[in-house]
Amino acid sequence: MKLIIDETRCKGCNLCTTVCPYSIFTEGKKLNERGIVVPVLDRPQRCTNCRLRNLYNRQLCGVCQLICPDQAISWIEDKDDPKVRVVIEY
Ligand code: SF4
Ligand code: SF4
Repeated sequence: MKLIIDETRCKGCNLCTTVCPYSIFTEGKKLNERGIVVPVLDRPQRCTNCRLRNLYNRQLCGVCQLICPDQAISWIEDKDDPKVRVVIEY
């Protein structure tokens, strides 16, 4: 699975940056074409849901998606998903 932020929906409120236990969302620095500073993803492959959703066949964690007021966060299938060992940092 691959974590994505829909830039056409995100309003840059940064609620997602406050809730992720792995600090995968970090505050962005550049304005996009809508004048919004969208968060940047830092090694999103560390996300619980990215790593384990297919294994458990259900959504895991998902707090960022729940708190996002604009439904801008989602996961898509990642066909190139490398099967690599992920070192978890807290
Ligand atoms: S699902 Fe959980 S671990 Fe994954 S990015 Fe969202 S808050 Fe972080
Ligand atoms: S919580 Fe949603 S709208 Fe707010 S910055 Fe994150 S992705 Fe954008």
